[in-house]
Amino acid sequence: MKTLFVFLILILSIRHVVAFEIKGQLQPGGLIHAQLEPGSSATLNGTRLSVSEDGLLVFGFGRDASVDQVLEIKEPDGSIKRQKLTLQKRNYKVQKIYGLPKNKVIPPIAQRERIASERRLISTTRNKKTNRRDFLGGFSWPVKGRISGVFGSQRILNGVPRSPHYGLDIAAPEGTPVLAASSGVISLAHENMFFTGKTILIDHGFGVSTIYVHLSEISVEVGQSVERGQLVGQVGMTGRATGPHLHWGLSWGQVRLDPQLVVPPMIN
Ligand SMILES: [Zn+2]
Repeated sequence: MKTLFVFLILILSIRHVVAFEIKGQLQPGGLIHAQLEPGSSATLNGTRLSVSEDGLLVFGFGRDASVDQVLEIKEPDGSIKRQKLTLQKRNYKVQKIYGLPKNKVIPPIAQRERIASERRLISTTRNKKTNRRDFLGGFSWPVKGRISGVFGSQRILNGVPRSPHYGLDIAAPEGTPVLAASSGVISLAHENMFFTGKTILIDHGFGVSTIYVHLSEISVEVGQSVERGQLVGQVGMTGRATGPHLHWGLSWGQVRLDPQLVVPPMIN
């Protein structure tokens, strides 16, 4: 009976043949790509998405993305293909952290300008769109260890609710090698940011980037190409951290994605 049902669904869905296949995770935090006919254009919920000349479409769903999404593709011959995407619902954890130094939870006024300029720097770096396609080669764990913080969790620091946690925290001893999660080019290497300490960003193309935070050492320079699995730094606790760990983030432009969705289950 169940098999028959699945078969029926399959037949029904074949009737609406789509000329493109969507790859990625249909859930908040998911990174999506699709190969379209060269010369196609695309919108997501009416908002224009950029498509490369040869038809590669890349986008991501943010933490609070609505469950119902509509992707519309206009092909070069003018035909329009509409596809409803239903995202899997996600619930996020609430994480309480106590004992952080007061000046790191509520930044001192004297540091506000510095913090704002560091935010701008990270933000403009994430906005850069290059035609690299490194992310298509996949991602691997930059460090292996206990997951001490997940994507999307609401943090309560010293009892004060803060903005959600957009990265993945992997606890590991100070000095543990940090490896590039995917090939790319180093787009930022900063020695001392207020919140994130020694910080690296890698551009994987089409607005997809990864960030590596709280490092004790940086072993790369801006503009340097790196291969997936190449050493880029070492685990530390610089910036705002209570212990040595890697805060690892994945973004599409300014949209923060869940890095855990792009890697296989961790095997130590
Ligand atoms: Zn973190």
